[in-house]
Amino acid sequence: MKCFKCPACSERVFFANLNCNACGASLMYTPASDSFRVTDSPCKKRETIEQCNWESANGSTFCLSCSLDVDETPTELTVVFQQSKRRTLRQLHRLGIQPSGIEPRLLFALEEGTADNPVTTGHSNGLITLDVSEGDAEHLQRIQDQMSEPYRTPLGHVRHELGHWFWQAMAGSLFELDHFRSVFGDENTPYQQALKDHYAQLDDGSWKANYISFYASSHPWEDFAESFAHFLHIDGTLETMQSSMQATDESDRASFETMYSQWVPVTTLINELNLSMGMPEPYPFAPSQIAVDKIRFVADAFQGNNKR
Ligand SMILES: [Zn+2]
Ligand SMILES: [Zn+2]
Ligand SMILES: [Zn+2]
Repeated sequence: MKCFKCPACSERVFFANLNCNACGASLMYTPASDSFRVTDSPCKKRETIEQCNWESANGSTFCLSCSLDVDETPTELTVVFQQSKRRTLRQLHRLGIQPSGIEPRLLFALEEGTADNPVTTGHSNGLITLDVSEGDAEHLQRIQDQMSEPYRTPLGHVRHELGHWFWQAMAGSLFELDHFRSVFGDENTPYQQALKDHYAQLDDGSWKANYISFYASSHPWEDFAESFAHFLHIDGTLETMQSSMQATDESDRASFETMYSQWVPVTTLINELNLSMGMPEPYPFAPSQIAVDKIRFVADAFQGNNKR
């Protein structure tokens, strides 16, 4: 994520700021211009625990992000998911995708799963359900350990599930199905059975030749959603690097080759930086060429290069 400027004093402002740290001005993020304004038409959820700092969308009391929520009650656990959602929606907008008006209609249900009442994170015909119990750091850590997924995060969930929506919304327009099948396989493979088989399988590492993650090997839809999430990880992290160093021209991202060649040293750096601070590696992946080609498919879809 780039840094923003305070409209009142021009000091640096971060994406989640409600106020300018320098001059104290009350600030509101405006998606259309990707910048901050002094608050005059805040989202209704600004006054909740979620402290949404976006402007209300035209004709709505909620912002573009909160207006996608289904009956959501803001709690401590929904905060991090809403931040992840705003971050990813801004990213999609920057990549040329505005969900409003696209079918299937994109909606989010933020629900808290409990032992008696588990919630399954997933996507169904535009509705993305997220289990916000993973917004609790200790609970998330337990699941990361249980599932051997140290990289599991709310932001990763939002990006992955948006990949399922993107696939359904864009198949046939941003990419052709036969091209998709030549890269990811036939998505008509029965999905529920594929997941059942996947969970019955031991992780022997053989997936590494063809997939970005073990879960990606379960079904072509999951493979696509995982590749989609990785494309957003790469794009988002490079934007942060580029804005902090201002060393590389943002237009370089037009080419996936350039983008990926910048990404590899960045992954080493962020992993090493985290290890130096005693934190786990945020990007513990070593993608094969085939897995990289799948991420390239997603990059090409955003750039309209998959149409024939
Ligand atoms: Zn200021
Ligand atoms: Zn909002
Ligand atoms: Zn999935």
